[in-house]
Amino acid sequence: MTTLKIAIQKSGRLSEKTFTLLENAGFQFEMTDRSLMAKCRNFPLELLFLRTDDIPEIVADGTSDLGICGQNSIAEKGFDLKEIEKLGFGKCRLSIAVPEKLISSFATGGEPFLNGMRIATSYPNILQNYLTEKGISAEIIKLSGSVEIAPNIGTADAICDLVSTGSTLKMNGLVEQEEIFFSESVLVGTGNLSKEKENILQDFLIRIGAVLLAKKFKYIVMNLERKDIPKLTEILPGLKSPTITSLADENWVSVSTVVEEKIFWATIGKLKEIGAEGILVQPIEKLII
Ligand code: AMP
Repeated sequence: MTTLKIAIQKSGRLSEKTFTLLENAGFQFEMTDRSLMAKCRNFPLELLFLRTDDIPEIVADGTSDLGICGQNSIAEKGFDLKEIEKLGFGKCRLSIAVPEKLISSFATGGEPFLNGMRIATSYPNILQNYLTEKGISAEIIKLSGSVEIAPNIGTADAICDLVSTGSTLKMNGLVEQEEIFFSESVLVGTGNLSKEKENILQDFLIRIGAVLLAKKFKYIVMNLERKDIPKLTEILPGLKSPTITSLADENWVSVSTVVEEKIFWATIGKLKEIGAEGILVQPIEKLII
């Protein structure tokens, strides 16, 4: 039977979220081959567990049909892969950071500030492209990990590393100077699948898409005086329009609808203003439009 192979991170920042996304979409896995791969019980899908930095190459050379990894890994490796879906997790930025004490001794700041510096990074290609584009002449020190300690041990003057919350920089007395690349986890492929695999991919995307879309909305139910229904429809567009159900007290109705996460609190505020009561909020597991 034709099976779609997807390379995912074996362990690290992205692995748990990737696995949760797949499980929430209803895929069930059984581990085989000492956890190097997992077969899906209820869908023609196979997972290959790899180091995240190896995923772009495994997809580019056709060993795996698809991969889930950070845009940072793809840009650094330089493989020409097709981004199929942004997955909304693993968001981070690749930034140049310098020791606090350097900032105070060079009050000028900005790009020329980096001229002549030694910058430690695990992303030499992205950094080199940035430096070339900006006309900055700096030495790149390639490190495969623990980049943030380089200035403290005297290996480099500055670093270029991934930043998520910024706490690692802070702990090492570093200050973010320039954000040079933004990244999140993506599903990638080569765009050269057989017809059969393409059909499986489309089915896979419907299931993943339902989970990703559901995360952007909340389901709400509330009570409202019947006379206030006209005010409601201006506030709640819903997917089409809100569902209104009569209550035992005929002066009141129950209203249910979905609200986009990004306008959630603003919407709740407006609903309270028009007299909505007992507002119940529920997460949505899957949403198919
Ligand atoms: P933070 O302290 O949250 O800013 O995280 C910074 C540390 O986590 C650095 O060591 C980064 O290399 C690593 N990191 C942050 N975000 C990611 C990501 N999305 N993917 C891989 N590594 C990351």
